Formats: sequence, C-alpha cells, structure tokens
Amino acid sequence: MESRELIDIGGRWTAPHGTERITLVDPRTGDAVAEVVHADEQDVDAAVAAARRAFDEGPAWPLAERVAVLGRLADAIAQQTDRFAETISAEMGAPDAFARQVQVGMALSTLRTTIEVAAAHEFEEQVGDSIAVSEPVGVVAAITPWNYPLHQALAKVGSALAAGCPVVLKPAETTPLTAYLLAEAAIGAGVPEGWLSVLAGRGGVVGAALAAHPGVDMVSFTGSTAAGRQIAATAAATVKRVALELGGKSPSVLLDDLDDDGFAAAARASVAFGMLNAGQTCAAWTRLVVPEDRYDDAVRVVREAAATFVPGENLGPLVSEVQWERVTAHLRNAVADGAEVVHGDPAPPRPERGFHLAPVVFGRVTPQMRIGQEEVFGPVLALQTYRDEDDAVAVANSTIYGLSAGVFGADHERAVGVARRIRSGTVHVNGLNSNRLAPFGGVKQSGVGREYGRWGLEEFLETKSIQPPARG
Ligand code: NAD
Repeated sequence: MESRELIDIGGRWTAPHGTERITLVDPRTGDAVAEVVHADEQDVDAAVAAARRAFDEGPAWPLAERVAVLGRLADAIAQQTDRFAETISAEMGAPDAFARQVQVGMALSTLRTTIEVAAAHEFEEQVGDSIAVSEPVGVVAAITPWNYPLHQALAKVGSALAAGCPVVLKPAETTPLTAYLLAEAAIGAGVPEGWLSVLAGRGGVVGAALAAHPGVDMVSFTGSTAAGRQIAATAAATVKRVALELGGKSPSVLLDDLDDDGFAAAARASVAFGMLNAGQTCAAWTRLVVPEDRYDDAVRVVREAAATFVPGENLGPLVSEVQWERVTAHLRNAVADGAEVVHGDPAPPRPERGFHLAPVVFGRVTPQMRIGQEEVFGPVLALQTYRDEDDAVAVANSTIYGLSAGVFGADHERAVGVARRIRSGTVHVNGLNSNRLAPFGGVKQSGVGREYGRWGLEEFLETKSIQPPARG
C-alpha cells in the first residue's frame, strides 16, 4: 500500500507538522489503497510563508516564463496520462476510459486554453490620461473537491500561476494523491520555489486555516454550498477576495415544439449528462423539465436511457461510504415526500464491495419536494412538468441554485429566448458545448466568480489606476 509521508511546501517535499494518518479507500472495491499524512495549521503557516516570500521578496517571474512553465506542465501531464488516470480511478472510482478522456483530457484542455489566453492578454489599458494596470491579486488558497480532482485543481492553479499568483492548494480529503502527482509534475516543469504548495488535509483544519490566514489574499473554492458559506464568512474577517464555485440542481428544459425524435434525443442527452461521473458533476442536469402532456413519453425514454447505465461498467461508484449514505438518504426523502419512482430501486441494499449505486429516476417531482430542491450528487434524476413557457421558466428557476441549465427546442431562436430567462451561469441550447474559452460559474447560491478563459484569468487579477497629474 502506498504511503505518503511528505507534503509539498513551495516545491520542496517536507515532513509535515501534522500527524494524522488517513487511509484512502478505492470506491470501486472498498479496499484500502494508500495512507496519507495530513497537514495541520502550522503546515499552512509554512506554505503561506513560502508563497509570501516568493510574491513579496522573490525575483520577478515574468509572464513569458510563466506561460512556458505551464506549457511544460501540460506536456508532462499529457505524457503521464496513464499514471494520472489510474490514480484518479483508484481515488474516486472513475471508469478507465472516463478517467483518461474526461478526467485528464478535460484538465489538459482547460490548462492549454488558460495558457493561450494568458499569452494573449492585455495587462494594461490606457483610459484617457490614466493607465489601468492588471496585477496579480497576491497569494491564493485553492480549495478543491474530489469529483474532477485534476481538472478542478488545474482550473485554479493554471489561471492563478498564469496571472502571477503563488498558490497553496488543498485538495479534497479523498483525492490527495492526484494533487501530489500534479505537484511532482509542477516541480519537474520548473515552477519556481514558493509558487505552488500542496497540502493534504481536512477542510475544517487546513481549509479553514487558509480561509482565515492574513497572509492569503484570495480564496478560490470549489465545493458544496454549505462549505462555501463558511469559507466566505471566515474570509470576510480579513476582507479577502473570494471566488466560489458551488453546488447545483440544474434543469434541462424540453420545449413543446420538439417532434417525437427531437424530444427523445433531448431526453436521452439530458439523462446522459445527469449520469456523467455517476451524477457527481456540479453542472449535471439533474431535473428534466417537460411539458405536462409529454410526461408519459418522457417516462418511457428516460427509463430506457437510465437502464443503459450499468454500475461497474459504464457507471462508476459514488466516491465514498459517506457519499453512499448521503445519496441513499436523498432517495428515502424523495419517497417520503411523495415522488413517483419511475426507474430503479429507491431503497438499495449496501453493495458487498465498493460504493456502487444504480440510477434512480423520480417522477412528478414538485419544487416543494426535497428531491426538487436539494443537490444529490449521485445518479439520481427528477422529472418535473410545466404548463406553458412561463411555467417552464419558473420551474427551471425554482431552486436556490443557478449553475447550469439546458434548453432544447425545434425553434433555436425561441430556445435561446428561454435560455435568456433562466437564472444560471451557463445555459446550453440544443446540446452540450464544452467551450473552454467561455466563462463558467454560478449565480444565486451556486457561487460567485467565473472560471475558464479570460474570465478565469481575470479572477486572479486586481486593477490598479496609475493617474498622471490632472491637467490645467
Ligand atoms: P465539500 O464542500 O465537502 O469539500 C470541498 C473542499 O472543501 C474539500 O477540499 C474540503 O476539504 C474543503 N472544505 C470542506 N469544508 C471546509 C471548510 N469549512 N473550510 C474550508 N474548506 C472546507 O464538497 P465535496 O463533497 O468535496 O464536493 C462536492 C460538492 O462540490 C458538490 O456540492 C458540488 O456541486 C460541488 N462542486 C462544484 C463545482 C463548481 O464548479 N461549481 C465543481 C465541482 C464540485
């Protein structure tokens, strides 16, 4: 069994002050795969001090060099795709092909897009007599979840380093090994001393210490809305910049002008996105919103589509025992609230090995039911109906979240019109589009700020005005 005794303080593998040992479990089997020593608050002090020295006192790290180093990092990750994919699968359970193509592939395409954007960015703008200068915001704490462990880390680390900000990365408790592989690759690519630290540790210890630390200028967090609220409250004491990429309960709205084939294709696409990564995708469409008079058609198509996702084959497990318990509690709540069971077993037995769960679809879900409101983060979908277009928009907007949505319709312009009325950071019209140049993030309680492309870079920049003396 692999044992990780060291943490990465500013690019140096260091024995941590923390002593807690955590056993990592492969969610596909339930077997222990590795042991990791957690960092503590004193390790946070050391990592932040290294970052501060690099930022405040170190030699300048010019944009051209940052871009070159990030390019070498992307190449190193691409060369080690197998190693990254195997580690991600062992930590969070993604099936092999998905780990390679999506977990590693998407991370690389995000990083390469960031590099292109940074290389072309205008960091100064003349405004009348003045100059508006974009400068790095300072030392960044990046706190990330386990569902896309490499991608979520690189979305922050890539943009922050490109902007000129040193980063202290705290990965999720379940996926530190992927983050340590990233640290190794970053050291090999030539990230200078102090510019990247990686600390395995608990959210309530290392994450909370980073959010509170006076030496941290910004916290960039991806994770649950509950943790995001706490981080924002903690960070407020030192008036840090806070970027929050939080939860979702995203709708896919099927408009009434779709013909039977279009309707079935849209419903299948919605189920596929809902099941992506075993439903452990923040932006997944987990509510399918259909016209009242097409409900029976929707049930038929969704049943067929959901049945094609087979646990252990094309559907990975839930990440942990805790997550299995959480998701099955949502299933019980849905039944208790009166949702119809359209597909699957809402009271599944605990699997003998691992944390697999077959898809479950609920029908006749109202916005008042918990399954119509709460993020599940598992292979669980809710079918909702609407009377007319206004009602479709109202149902789509009926949660505290606003991360992602889909609209499908025969008349594309009309569908775009509906997309404009949905309160969401992203709305996909007539199919999924993963343009890495476009901004991504949430409105309402799905978060604050944007990642990817120009917006992802600007999140880590501060604007300074350089004012000449007033004329006359
Ligand atoms: P989580 O909030 O439990 O943990 C995320 C990270 O925050 C982990 O590193 C954790 O250790 C840390 N953390 C937890 N509590 C903390 C605290 N009080 N202070 C500081 N750090 C703390 O979330 P998770 O279970 O790892 O991930 C699933 C959640 O993430 C879902 O809600 C999902 O929607 C969300 N998510 C959002 C996006 C997005 O881009 N909007 C992307 C992926 C996941």
